[in-house]
Amino acid sequence: MNGNFAADLQAVFATHGNRPALRMVDGALWTYSDLAERTARLATVLVEADTGPGERVLAQVGKTPEAVALYLATLQVGGVYVPLNSAYTAAEVAYFLADTQPRVFVRDPTSPALEGEGASLAELTLGEGDGSLVQAMDTARPRFEVAERKGDDLAALVYTSGTTGRSKGAMLTHHNIRSNAEALRQCWGWRDDDVLLHALPLFHVHGLFIAMHCALLGGTPTIFLPRFDVRTVKRHLLESTVMMGVPTFYTRLLQDADFNRSHCREVRVFISGSAPLTEATFDAWQARTGHRILERYGMSETIINTSNPLHGERVAGSVGFALPGLEVRVAGEAGEPLPPGEVGSIEVRGENVFKGYWRQPEKTAEEFRADGYFITGDLGVMDAEGRLSIVGRARDLVISGGYNVYPKEVEALIDELDEVDESAVIGVPHPDFGEGVVAVVVPSGGPVSTEQVTASLEDRLARFKQPKHVVNVGALPRNSMGKVQKNRLREEYSRLFSSTSEVN
Ligand code: AMP
Repeated sequence: MNGNFAADLQAVFATHGNRPALRMVDGALWTYSDLAERTARLATVLVEADTGPGERVLAQVGKTPEAVALYLATLQVGGVYVPLNSAYTAAEVAYFLADTQPRVFVRDPTSPALEGEGASLAELTLGEGDGSLVQAMDTARPRFEVAERKGDDLAALVYTSGTTGRSKGAMLTHHNIRSNAEALRQCWGWRDDDVLLHALPLFHVHGLFIAMHCALLGGTPTIFLPRFDVRTVKRHLLESTVMMGVPTFYTRLLQDADFNRSHCREVRVFISGSAPLTEATFDAWQARTGHRILERYGMSETIINTSNPLHGERVAGSVGFALPGLEVRVAGEAGEPLPPGEVGSIEVRGENVFKGYWRQPEKTAEEFRADGYFITGDLGVMDAEGRLSIVGRARDLVISGGYNVYPKEVEALIDELDEVDESAVIGVPHPDFGEGVVAVVVPSGGPVSTEQVTASLEDRLARFKQPKHVVNVGALPRNSMGKVQKNRLREEYSRLFSSTSEVN
């Protein structure tokens, strides 16, 4: 049997050809047979660009239905899809090009063409205009053949980061993504009449795998919004049965005084993840809509690990139970399982766990226990029934608006400024983004302003990583080993964004 996940999807699309697959806000509609056909046309283009099994397709593209077809076409020809955040600058993209050595780089027509890249790389655009893949989608000959792949072969590389600030590519196999999608459909009781409201980006596992796969494997419709926007979401919620979002979606909707339970009358479940959902948001959502948000926990390396139950108690502040077929434990320093109630390292083993970091065998070895458990880097506590709560991140990762910001990368650039002696970047609670990025700097002369720092980062760092506020201090607090005590900084500035008008 072909282990290529595209084969499973193709079978679903063939059965449900007449059903709506993607419904866009402008009224455009792709049925499942449209999606299958356009995917097959793009498959021809990829094969003509020599994208054989195992070859990487690096994509920095906007959120369009064509981008969904590009992802599916890559799987179909046996390629490895590498989605990139559209906010990455050219300098950042250069790193991913060098690391993945793709056969094809697909970009937005509005972003600059590559300079000085090897001739072996095909550069394509996804948008209107001559030579773009959108045009090829109407003209190329469809190629429905699905490349033979084993379940253990790579389907995608999803870039995450480490404490060193260098991004690492998490290698996800066809079996990882298939088994997780099936487990989620079971866990969340996916129905034949479900309609998914999709307002997430497509370059992250949340939007691309978790949300899209539930709908695609069911042959059910997705209302495909280009981005999250309160007015549009309110309108389309009326036709939706499931919404998946980051906590920011929920806080933004709650800020809209007009938003009420009548907007949610068709919805059977609201799902949240990618960042902590506060108990305050959980409670406020229940009071406003009558729904208890179903929170789940996952990451690029493992897709989803745990989920609150569809039926049964959804506890605020908990991320629920291990998905069927997975093992999740809270362990001590040597990987020994800890008793319920004790805080430790969250570790996961099972079909969802990735194959390792792309071309980084040492890093991969460091993150796995001898018994096969993956060390997530998160800290948590489990109750006697197996319900997990995350208490913090072992590393100093900041999650702002659902996106990861790795302090070291930001610090390195700020430290390059003449006006700054040194810096520490932290995340503190932010009413809108969950966490807001703050740079604590030791100036070399007079005080350094927030504007000065962001202006210097403009072309070098995606906007979501730039500090929302800069604090000047005489010295950074350090422990006896010389390490900066970020926990103290976080405590000291924890209320910085409570009065948002001043600093936002
Ligand atoms: P990413 O690889 O971008 O998906 O980020 C993964 C990280 O997001 C995890 O290691 C967690 O620290 C965090 N995360 C994901 N879901 C949750 C959640 N429900 N609650 C708290 N943190 C979460």
